[in-house]
Amino acid sequence: MTKQFASAGDMAEKKISFTEIGKDIWAFTAEGDPNTGVIIGDNSVMIVEAQATPELANKVIEKVRSVTDKPISHLVLTHYHAVRVLGASAYHAPTIIMSQKARSMVVERGAEDRESEFQRFPRLFLGYDSIDKVPPLTWPTTTFNDRMTVYLGKRRVDLMFLGRAHTAGDIIIHVPDANVMFTGDIVEYHSACYCGDGHFNEWGPTLEKIRAFDVDAIAPGRGDALVGKEMVNKALTNTADFVNSIYRPVARIAQGGGTLKEAWDAARAECDPKFSDYAIYEHCLPFNVARAYDEALGIDTPRIWTAERDMRMWEALQG
Ligand SMILES: [Zn+2]
Repeated sequence: MTKQFASAGDMAEKKISFTEIGKDIWAFTAEGDPNTGVIIGDNSVMIVEAQATPELANKVIEKVRSVTDKPISHLVLTHYHAVRVLGASAYHAPTIIMSQKARSMVVERGAEDRESEFQRFPRLFLGYDSIDKVPPLTWPTTTFNDRMTVYLGKRRVDLMFLGRAHTAGDIIIHVPDANVMFTGDIVEYHSACYCGDGHFNEWGPTLEKIRAFDVDAIAPGRGDALVGKEMVNKALTNTADFVNSIYRPVARIAQGGGTLKEAWDAARAECDPKFSDYAIYEHCLPFNVARAYDEALGIDTPRIWTAERDMRMWEALQG
């Protein structure tokens, strides 16, 4: 039987949770759909990740207004992907922050990404027509290279680039007074990692840098909030295992002169027994294998996914 493309057939709405994971720090999660973070300072609020559309962002804002009436001053985007950024306009945040690398990827591949992500997962683009028409994705007002600090009154928030992983420009957000971190899609919990724009060999070392912070809680990119060091460490180990379990078998085939289809079979043999019950597993796997195959052959910069390339690759592997 032919599998429907990516998540085109996934129309079941998810249950939203809004959890306090540190003092005045909240995680908006939805059973494997993209998460959003909320950091409440003395006088204003920072939002981490915008959601895919303003309509979805309004669901976040509704939750924020149930716990604070302070204005939203900052929106931080951990990377450029459409499902994370296109809801930005709903927050009316005067400051929108991204890494400089992430901004350069908006310039380089934003238009292609927007088109391809919409085709992959239409449900996540509820109210697509309400999206800011300014092309192609969301533009930051402020960028940085390695790290920057934002003071929300007395509350300090550190934004850092720790290394390449899910994309070349992912950042993490750390709140030292609560020892809580937002990791974007570098860390997932019971959800597949999307590695189609990733850097497999550097992902593990980046996870170890996160582990070194010894945080008390993490809101991952997808999946439940991780509260307590045991949960945090388990998720970090699990994410590393997921990434390596794709890369190792694929690299073995690619470097031995095998085809993409053979690499696909090898990755499935390794990953299906461990991860097939993870959210968006079938969706991610072909993109992950295709990127792992390229990286193993020495292609450093992930090739740009277009709506057309998506379909060709899906036919070749999942079709
Ligand atoms: Zn992403």
